Amino acid sequence: MPTTDTTPPALRPYLTPAHEQLWGEAEKFAADHVVPRVPHMEAAPHEVERELPQLMALRGWFGVTIPEEYGGMAAGHVAKTVLIHRLAVASAATAAILQATLIPVGALLHWGTLEQKKKWLRKVADGTVLFSIAVTEPDAGGHIGGIETVAEPAGDEWVITGEKIHIGNSHIAGLHVVVARTAPPGVTASAALTAFLVENHREGLSHGKHRARLGLHGFSAGRLILDRVRIPAANILGEVGQGLYVAQSASILYGRPNLTAVSLGIHEALVETTAHFLNDRPRYGGYLSDHPVVQDRLGEMQGRLQTALTTTYSAVHLLDHGVACDSELIGAKHTGHQLAVESARDAMELHGARALDGDYELQRLFRDIPHTYSPAGTGEFQRIHLAKAALGETTIEWSQRLAAEAAWAPDPTAA
Ligand SMILES: Cc1cc2nc3c(=O)[nH]c(=O)nc-3n(C[C@H](O)[C@H](O)[C@H](O)COP(=O)(O)OP(=O)(O)OC[C@H]3O[C@@H](n4cnc5c(N)ncnc54)[C@H](O)[C@@H]3O)c2cc1C
Repeated sequence: MPTTDTTPPALRPYLTPAHEQLWGEAEKFAADHVVPRVPHMEAAPHEVERELPQLMALRGWFGVTIPEEYGGMAAGHVAKTVLIHRLAVASAATAAILQATLIPVGALLHWGTLEQKKKWLRKVADGTVLFSIAVTEPDAGGHIGGIETVAEPAGDEWVITGEKIHIGNSHIAGLHVVVARTAPPGVTASAALTAFLVENHREGLSHGKHRARLGLHGFSAGRLILDRVRIPAANILGEVGQGLYVAQSASILYGRPNLTAVSLGIHEALVETTAHFLNDRPRYGGYLSDHPVVQDRLGEMQGRLQTALTTTYSAVHLLDHGVACDSELIGAKHTGHQLAVESARDAMELHGARALDGDYELQRLFRDIPHTYSPAGTGEFQRIHLAKAALGETTIEWSQRLAAEAAWAPDPTAA
């Protein structure tokens, strides 16, 4: 099996030959298709990128964690991280498109009925339909218990009314996993919410206008408006009242590692861009990179990147092996983002005024990195969870609860 020699030695314990092959394929895809497309995506922030998701779909990458019986790659969480990470080095927006569908895929894998999986996972795997997961609302961000979108039973149908915002792949998804309130006020969130599969063509479902955001140009993270959308009871995902658990487990097992991989890719690009600049910038007959003070800061950036790299991959490696690792997944997302933000500041300062030139690549990286802070849990919520772990408090351990399904490695002793 052909391998690439570009994988960092620190990742050898986590990468199989199949992962290394995927690494090379993702890098080639990025070089052939993503890098040439980035200037247009940056120049047209009001446009939703539609070509790259199609090309990724043709490669079956939206099915990276889907079992073979549903037509997927059955390649697991490390493989998913490889794809997102390598794409994010070239374009965080492209990586964001891939990861945003892989979160609801996880929800369907763990909570779907056999019929739902047969119907929908095949379509994601063959690239004919992409998914979104719609939890966030204008007045209910991190506080999922504050969800106001309501779903009411009507015979053997449910009628959903409400509004969702910041929904990844809002404008290209054919199916939305929508979390809505199904119990009266006063019922706790752990019993009051339900997840529904809502097809994009349903009458009453519309989208807000795609608007340019600070970064991730080309990625749609927009508004879904549900105006008395009727769906059959067969479209309930999990059971009535399990919506919190559907959203929470998908966020921890898929959302957090996905965003970790996006911030890791941005971080790597920051270090590469800065090293290249310092090596090229003449000073006193040599280059800026010759100077110890400059090297010190670059060394700090490289150290952070190495830490982010190993925490990212070790966490998803545990997940592939069915080990309880919620805290590791959460910690990797939190730390990876923080370290990348620190490196982004160093990168800007080390570039001097060059950093401020309008079309310079560094600005894209600097605008993209804040987008990995709030999705799948802001830093505040990650730290609340991590503090509970430090205090020995018991929380639901989703990686353990869904361990049998989360175990992907063909041979757990192989790595
Ligand atoms: C790129 C991107 C993609 C996204 N994709 C999706 C998606 O696919 N689906 C989806 O449903 N949502 C998505 N989101 C939305 C994301 O999940 C929310 O941004 C997140 O849940 C936080 O909600 P909020 O932004 O409304 O912030 P708020 O909840 O309003 O919080 C604002 C600030 O207050 C802090 N805070 C709030 N409550 C507390 C508390 N109790 N204790 C301490 N601090 C607190 C927060 O940490 C934050 O710093 C995405 C967001 C982005 C940026």
